[in-house]
Amino acid sequence: FPSLNNMIFFIILFLSCVTTKINLCFSCVPSSLKTLPIDGHFNFQQVEHAAKDFGNRYSFLPLAVLYPKSVSDVATTVKHIWRLGGGSELRVAARGHGHSLQGQAQVHRGVVINMESLQGPKMQVHAGNLSYVDVSGGELWINILRESLKHGLAPKSWTDYLHLTVGGTLSNAGISGQAFRHGPQISNVYQLQVVTGKGEVVNCSEKQNSDLFYSVLGGLGQFGIITRARISLEPAPLMVKWIRVLYTDFTTFARDQEKLISGESAFDYVEGFVIINRTGVLNNWRSSFSPQDPVQASQFKSDGRTLFCLELAKYFNPEEMALVNQEIKSSLSQLNHIPSTLFTSQVPYIEFLDRVHISEIKLRSRGLWEVPHPWLNLLIPRSKILSFAQQVFGNILTDTSSGPILIYPLNKSKWDNRTSVVTPEEDVFYLVAFLSSAVPSSTASDGLEQVLIRNQRILDFCEIAGLGVKQYLPHYSTQAEWKSHFGSHWEAFIQRKSAYDPLAILAPGQRIFQKPV
Ligand code: FAD
Repeated sequence: FPSLNNMIFFIILFLSCVTTKINLCFSCVPSSLKTLPIDGHFNFQQVEHAAKDFGNRYSFLPLAVLYPKSVSDVATTVKHIWRLGGGSELRVAARGHGHSLQGQAQVHRGVVINMESLQGPKMQVHAGNLSYVDVSGGELWINILRESLKHGLAPKSWTDYLHLTVGGTLSNAGISGQAFRHGPQISNVYQLQVVTGKGEVVNCSEKQNSDLFYSVLGGLGQFGIITRARISLEPAPLMVKWIRVLYTDFTTFARDQEKLISGESAFDYVEGFVIINRTGVLNNWRSSFSPQDPVQASQFKSDGRTLFCLELAKYFNPEEMALVNQEIKSSLSQLNHIPSTLFTSQVPYIEFLDRVHISEIKLRSRGLWEVPHPWLNLLIPRSKILSFAQQVFGNILTDTSSGPILIYPLNKSKWDNRTSVVTPEEDVFYLVAFLSSAVPSSTASDGLEQVLIRNQRILDFCEIAGLGVKQYLPHYSTQAEWKSHFGSHWEAFIQRKSAYDPLAILAPGQRIFQKPV
């Protein structure tokens, strides 16, 4: 038998080997990244910014941030990590503009890829029967708009805010008031170039590698990193008539919204929002709407009632003005809003599309942009929207809303069910977006905890009432919840993961897959 001293010696030796090995693993990872032949560079020191996002509630510190110059930098890095095998815990998060809400573009002790530094070939607009623009996956939509406008063209489908990247919105869906007609942004892409979780660079489209193409669209970054995209374009108008009308009755409001998105709508954009207990009814941070008749607008008294505001836009060129005015008048005459509440404005097209940025500048100057954002986005079947509205706007959110609440219907026929995104099983469903800001100095009812409790009450109500609601920009903490979110699409989602990212290297911040599939 070994003596006690010998035993202690062996135990110490064993423990020191284990800790050396652990230390070796952590320290060798950065040095192995340092030796990769890339055009861009890694930063191992200044990584704090990559542990932040717009939601301002989650923070995971990465080991390194890659600033890629080329697609091959992205592929080389992912391939290197793939080759480390299933035993390595190193993961990769592509970061667009960091406008996620719950750490979706972050990775604890992993590599964040700063997609905005990717310098693909220059943005290229192709004007023709089928107009399109080729862009890098890290390109901001505002830059795409500016570039395509030089050719008199523009993308068809938008988000309300344009300082987001192509890769970031295509990983979700990308929706705004144009989606009723054109579908979400993921319905307006012709081709993608993708780096899979194995580090392969693959071109894909409806015709070529179509399974990967549809997997990636709305795929929450799980199947590949979008390095290039071909986005469909249409002729751009110069001007926009921007219109708001108010309702006190939800059913009338919803009926009019649905009328406007069915068939040949006269409008190019249909949205709406809920106004709860506000005095300045047009004081909405999310837009820069300023009515042509501000006196009339300011005189409107809501008397503490919950109001529903329908927001419409009609694109036009100056020479079509008379005709367009006629069309708008005729369409509005078929609506049932409160007659004295017609607020109109007329702005250049780019100003209309970039409207939220104007508010961003104002909020930033007052330190109100970098506050926690406990947002909740839901897709609700049309048949359930009335029960939802009665309970949520009538009971749960009676006195405050902490931020804008958007509400507008979408046509399911404009969504491609081959993509990864899941939506309610009805021809029409509503987006309801609770865009709360938790300002630190606010009253108890507007604080972060209170907003989170309210969000949970809304989710609990949807669950108990069996409304068939899906989260947009989904966030869950367990795989069981993800399984329920995807429903009958879950098996296909897993199959796609095992085909394109079997070691679960990509987008761990979504918290769908913790280990290899
Ligand atoms: P990030 O937050 O950086 O990334 C989002 C996810 O995509 C992460 O999982 C990340 O890993 C992954 N990802 C990023 N780049 C790539 C890539 N190239 N390839 C693969 N995966 C990638 N959404 C709408 O649909 N409509 C709106 O009107 C709208 N308005 C918004 C307004 C504001 C002020 C904000 C903050 C968000 C809004 N969003 C809207 C939500 C927005 O579309 C998503 O949060 C989107 O993910 C943000 O894009 P991003 O470039 O910042 O992506």
